[in-house]
Amino acid sequence: MKVLILGSGGREHALAWAVKRSKRVTEVVCAPGNGGMAQIARCVPVDLKSLDAMVRLAEAEKPGLTIVGPELPLSLGIVDALRERGLRVFGPTKAAAMLESSKAFAKRFLQRHNIPTAKYAVSTTLAEFEKAVEKFHAPIVVKADGLAAGKGVIICATRQTALEAAQGLFSGSLLGEKAEQVVIEEFLEGDELSFLCLSDGKTVKALAPAQDHKRIGEGDTGPNTGGMGVYSTDAMLDEGMKEWIVRHIAEPTIRGMAEEDTPFTGVLYCGLMMTARGPEVLEFNARFGDPETQAILLRLESDLVDALEACIDGTLEQTEMRWMPGASACVVASSEGYPGSYKTGLPMSGLDEAARIPGVEVFHSGSAVADSKLVTAGGRVLGVTAAASSLEEALGRAYQALGEIHFDGMYFRRDIGHRALRRKA
Ligand code: AMP
Repeated sequence: MKVLILGSGGREHALAWAVKRSKRVTEVVCAPGNGGMAQIARCVPVDLKSLDAMVRLAEAEKPGLTIVGPELPLSLGIVDALRERGLRVFGPTKAAAMLESSKAFAKRFLQRHNIPTAKYAVSTTLAEFEKAVEKFHAPIVVKADGLAAGKGVIICATRQTALEAAQGLFSGSLLGEKAEQVVIEEFLEGDELSFLCLSDGKTVKALAPAQDHKRIGEGDTGPNTGGMGVYSTDAMLDEGMKEWIVRHIAEPTIRGMAEEDTPFTGVLYCGLMMTARGPEVLEFNARFGDPETQAILLRLESDLVDALEACIDGTLEQTEMRWMPGASACVVASSEGYPGSYKTGLPMSGLDEAARIPGVEVFHSGSAVADSKLVTAGGRVLGVTAAASSLEEALGRAYQALGEIHFDGMYFRRDIGHRALRRKA
């Protein structure tokens, strides 16, 4: 079977790597892909912002399965468009992807279905916001409604700064685009957990849990990024808590979407805050996370393609997923200056030496091939990922691999997994 993967980051590289391991897969095509994916798959150009271009490509390639990596194609309706043409595609429809593409929709949905989440209010004007914010105690979380690649969340120490943030979102001065709706949320305290599950619209199957590190600096300081590293261990989520999250968060979400005639098939990514009152939903994503996927898929022992196809066919309940016990970790190597401006086109070395370390896979987030050499092509460049029987060992392998790799200005956090390691100490 031929598999088409839409996207160009580390998540898609990890998906391509996992898909290639399936015995049923004969060819993997990545669109547009990157320098790393080009080593294991055929890469073809496509504009992920253009629904027409993606549809034309799928019609020409006629894959047996299409996997959609990023959120934008989902929110443009790529799944609906390919299904209408009789093509098999893994991911939610445009209507179901609203769980991610509109925070206001997600919050109202959570409230309608009594799923635990922070208290909130949605405003469409600054005057409305000013009135609503009076009912919240500081710190106050202010969020833009649409997709903002992690930049649309502002944590405000006072009501006055919350008002200024809302002003910036409504006027467009903060994100470049005017927000039509702004969400106010109660600030939740606790450890964050990325709880991803597959669904065929009825059944839920949890993937290995993960915890990511969003800030650029060690000790979780400095500006937010797309994610600087992630780890996954069995110890971070015991069976009892996992069951609770499935029964009270994941299943009611899937059931609620089906009841509202927008059944959700694909990956439901529940961003949770493990508060003193219990887990509460911070956000939903309608797709695999990046870099969570890199660490999660390294632990998957069973066939990914079987599980994704079961989501399309409605047979997930009968599909077994097996996970490697132990742990995995992914440390992101980024370009100097990221998440601000940075240079690209810098040559990279040491990747083969790094990949020879047992248990290590180097996934590419932003790389390209120029004059037959690998060069940097993004803010996040590599996701150096390792699996082992313990978190310490997985991290040790990932950092050893990073020691082999070089490009000018390469930066990575040296404290990935610090919360889990501290808890163990
Ligand atoms: P979101 O895009 O909604 O997941 O928000 C991005 C990040 O902002 C989350 O991963 C949290 O670290 C933080 N955040 C969002 N909402 C809240 C909240 N209500 N309380 C505390 N932190 C939050």
